[in-house]
Amino acid sequence: MLEGKIALVTGASRGIGRAIALTLAGYGADVAVNYCGSAEKAQETAQEIQALGRHAILVKADVSVQEDCERMFREVTEQLGAPDILVNNAGITRDNLALRMSAEDFNRVIDTNLKGTFFCMKLAGKQMLRKRSGRIISLSSIVGLHGNAGQLNYSAAKAGVIGMTKSLAKELASRGITVNAVAPGYVNTDMTAVLTDAQKEAIQSQIPLGRIGSPQDIAETVAFLASDRAAYITGQVISVDGGMGI
Ligand code: NAP
Repeated sequence: MLEGKIALVTGASRGIGRAIALTLAGYGADVAVNYCGSAEKAQETAQEIQALGRHAILVKADVSVQEDCERMFREVTEQLGAPDILVNNAGITRDNLALRMSAEDFNRVIDTNLKGTFFCMKLAGKQMLRKRSGRIISLSSIVGLHGNAGQLNYSAAKAGVIGMTKSLAKELASRGITVNAVAPGYVNTDMTAVLTDAQKEAIQSQIPLGRIGSPQDIAETVAFLASDRAAYITGQVISVDGGMGI
């Protein structure tokens, strides 16, 4: 499905990003594995991709830093080629009730989840314009669509990702580039491991399909959007949330 394609997945050392990187490789893509702090985990992701018979490279970059993103795209282009697929997955949370939230925690989440996505969209968009094809897929969240107490900063960033996705889709559609977002509900990763069992049970009771999502649930949707099968889909937000947002 993705043979011959080059993908860059940000935050591919752990969690959903790791599953996306492995799934894209499973469908035939060569993958650049971006990470920030988890070098060993990223190395494991890359080794698993290579075991699938695909090329994988490691790229350390903090997506909240524009110069890091520029260097990352240079390294990927030199070592694998210009990406056909960009997956903006890197993300963090710094939760607190709005009235207690520091400007620092607000900025940190916006810098990583929103500005990091903007930097990478711009760099990928430039390269994809030359190819007159490409796929840009960004991770939003159910929280970006519906809000969540304790996550004002995160919901602002994830709603912003949706706005950027729709705007960029309109700018790039005539050049054969599609731009979409995936909005997961609750997914079992390090990000949600901080929840107590009682909190997880409360969340689970609100999910019509009756279970918390797996990284693979998200990765399959991303792989579909990255493929030719999704050629006529752009500017969309696909919820993968077990029906939680209905
Ligand atoms: P996770 O397990 O905490 O993993 C986060 C990943 O992002 C790691 O690979 C981390 O890399 C990377 N990352 C963090 N800051 C970075 C930075 N500045 N530059 C580059 N990479 C950075 O998170 P996850 O649950 O897999 O979430 C992945 C995406 O899905 C995020 O955008 C998140 O907001 C979104 N999402 C998650 C859920 C959920 O329930 N889990 C729900 C909705 C949306 P290092 O460890 O190498 O630093």
